[in-house]
Amino acid sequence: MTASDCLEISVLGRGYGESIVLHVPALGWIVVDSFLTEAGSPAALEYIKSQGGDLDQVVGIVATHWHDDHIQGISDLLKNCRAAQFSLPIALQGKQFRAIAYEAARVGTNETSSGAAELLASLRVIKGSDRVPNWVTEGQIIHRTVFSLAGRAHRFELEALSPSKKDVDAFLLHVAAQTLAPSNDAFRIPEFTENDISMAAWGRISGQFFLLGADLEERKQADRGWNNVLARLAPLGEQAGYYKIAHHGAKSGHSQRVWSELCVTDPVATIAPWTKGGKAIPTEADCRRIQALTSRAYVTTRNPLRKPQRMASVVEGKIRSMNAGLRAHPSEVGRITATLDVTPASPAWRVELHGRACELGDYSPAA
Ligand SMILES: [Zn+2]
Repeated sequence: MTASDCLEISVLGRGYGESIVLHVPALGWIVVDSFLTEAGSPAALEYIKSQGGDLDQVVGIVATHWHDDHIQGISDLLKNCRAAQFSLPIALQGKQFRAIAYEAARVGTNETSSGAAELLASLRVIKGSDRVPNWVTEGQIIHRTVFSLAGRAHRFELEALSPSKKDVDAFLLHVAAQTLAPSNDAFRIPEFTENDISMAAWGRISGQFFLLGADLEERKQADRGWNNVLARLAPLGEQAGYYKIAHHGAKSGHSQRVWSELCVTDPVATIAPWTKGGKAIPTEADCRRIQALTSRAYVTTRNPLRKPQRMASVVEGKIRSMNAGLRAHPSEVGRITATLDVTPASPAWRVELHGRACELGDYSPAA
């Protein structure tokens, strides 16, 4: 087995910000969402470089939605990774959204508007490099490849599970209603707090499956959010051995059926915590719920409300000894890397923790 025989999924986080880096045999790198390190560069870019990765081998960059904690640095990634296809939810092509993004870029004040400005900057990079964005909706295969390994043919697929048609329609209605609201003649920037158009994804590789939950939420309606995903996916009987838990482990992203029907028993589960205004997700109640569902849950950030300190020298030393020449990752970024060797008859996930990452049992949402 070599590293290139393995599927690798790395979740990066620093307490606010989530980025997932996939390395797929015979295909290359795929980056899902982005955040900036303290030094102001995309954490995913730093990670790929630290692994000696070739940026021309980054085949895909995915923006699951336009919230600040998922999109900062996406335009920089697109600039640096010129061969990458840019995939984003279809609702973000609406005329209403373009108007909002334009205004947001001009004003650029609050959290959502800076997310919109980053998205606008990304679309400009794409246009300037003669690429066309891949506007995604449920059921679309974002990336696919077939490769030969150990004398056997293997297949990889990454499929978008959301947004559903109804999710998109509801989002556009929300945008239209807010955009049209009169507000002292001034253009009013709508506030979006919901994650209705968030793009979750399902991965298939050699009979194994993984689920990237984005910030997708549980909705009452059958044709929206997780219910819509379940209606389409559950009958296939595929079950993920790896789940990047939806919406940072918050209750709003929780669907019991996702765990019972779309995941194997005791799956590897990962979370990039979210913090704001002295609050942290997952909360203690979220942790209890998740720990009852799997014994193999991990977070990128042990104490998200505590200021990052220099990585303990013992940890840095350990990382260096594990991979001589590997540059230690910036101390504030935690990384959970799950690896699946696809060549054995029964592949099993292996997990490595770096920087501030830890098991969910060692995580603390208190300051
Ligand atoms: Zn988020």
